[in-house]
Amino acid sequence: MTGFNLALNDDQIAVRDWLHGFARDVIRPAAAEWDEREETPWPIIQEAAKVGIYSLDFFAQQQFDPTGLGIPIAMEELFWGDAGIGLAICGSALAAAGVVTNGTPEQVGTWAPEMFGTPDDPKLAAFCSSEPDAGSDVAAMRTRAVYDEATDEWVLNGTKTWATNGGIAHIHVVVASVDPELGARGQASFIIPPGTPGLSQGQKFKKHGIRASHTAEVVLDNVRVPNSCLLGGKEKLDERMAKARERAAAVARGEKVEQVKNAAMATFEASRPAVGAQAVGLARAAYEESLEYAKTRVQFGRPIIDNQGIAFTLADMRTRIDAARLLVWRASWMAATAQPFTAAEGSMSKLYAGETAKWVTAQAIQIFGGNGFTREYPVERMHRDAAIYTIFEGTSEIQRLVIARTLSGMPIR
Ligand SMILES: Cc1cc2nc3c(=O)[nH]c(=O)nc-3n(C[C@H](O)[C@H](O)[C@H](O)COP(=O)(O)OP(=O)(O)OC[C@H]3O[C@@H](n4cnc5c(N)ncnc54)[C@H](O)[C@@H]3O)c2cc1C
Repeated sequence: MTGFNLALNDDQIAVRDWLHGFARDVIRPAAAEWDEREETPWPIIQEAAKVGIYSLDFFAQQQFDPTGLGIPIAMEELFWGDAGIGLAICGSALAAAGVVTNGTPEQVGTWAPEMFGTPDDPKLAAFCSSEPDAGSDVAAMRTRAVYDEATDEWVLNGTKTWATNGGIAHIHVVVASVDPELGARGQASFIIPPGTPGLSQGQKFKKHGIRASHTAEVVLDNVRVPNSCLLGGKEKLDERMAKARERAAAVARGEKVEQVKNAAMATFEASRPAVGAQAVGLARAAYEESLEYAKTRVQFGRPIIDNQGIAFTLADMRTRIDAARLLVWRASWMAATAQPFTAAEGSMSKLYAGETAKWVTAQAIQIFGGNGFTREYPVERMHRDAAIYTIFEGTSEIQRLVIARTLSGMPIR
């Protein structure tokens, strides 16, 4: 097993520095423009594809870093550049994680490359789980997938919401209920190949932050996909659901039973520390801007950092950011070395990093004073962007629920 080591190796340092250069020279200068335009920043995605950042190869290489630190290092640097553009670049990788987690090796080989396209013709991917009445409550999902034995196809109907890249993606990964009586355990993930009739974009949301990332509803109206698009295959799904039915029967008889994983939760589990790393990058950007500003802004004849009130805030900002990074790196290392998350360390890392980004960017606005309240300075955008980190990939309350349930073994509500 690879030991936990805070000293980055030469490859990690080279990747970090390369990404930092791209974030500094390409992403950050474009951030305000794409935030105002509220559109997918295609020229930046194309540039990232040209240099090899927007590619399956790049994300796979980081994912397979045996120390687990490849993805968090990459996320931190890209989101240091800008969270909206960062998500536009990394949204497909989050959807691809859904395929890697739940798909067979053949499915991963077929669909994961399609999710990124080629350097000359980059494509996007979307992961669609949330619904208007099923956000935190994933088990309440209404989108149905029904197997049509005559054609060996699945027929999907329903409406997904809040999907990053929804409707503009080349490949959509859709979580649907196969057996509603089993709740989250009766759900499965499906690939919807490009151009499949019946899939359309609903409303595109106008957002508070991360506005360079496209978020929209996805409507599924009698969408037919071959059985081969069921991630993991039908045999495995039937087996899993049979176990869930046995489990439900055992619970009804009052017996103690083991937990069974469901498709959406498995995907979230794999991606939570990566999302925490995005929050760390964003928080670090706001902290660095604040430190510089506090050293140069003069009031009462001295730089404002000369006041303990400001200097101590900066000390706290940096301390929380470093603590958040350590939690993210620990969880990523645990995932890479297949250690059990006995204290929900993945959720812990996302909870703390998300709350840190929100707190740090609020302090940044305060340090910038009136300037922080205007769009002339990037901390205003960073503060809006940070708000998402206590909401998506499980809200802070849901992370606390997961942690509390894991620690106590009790069905905390
Ligand atoms: C910009 C953006 C991008 C997104 N991208 C995607 C995507 O690509 N794919 C996807 O599937 N989804 C995506 N989402 C959806 C996101 O994951 C959900 O918004 C999130 O899970 C919360 O669900 P909800 O919005 O329905 O809030 P709700 O579940 O309605 O929660 C509302 C409030 O109630 C609290 N709450 C709910 N239940 C409990 C409880 N049991 N105990 C305590 N508090 C509780 C929540 O914490 C929250 O504060 C995205 C959302 C946004 C805003």
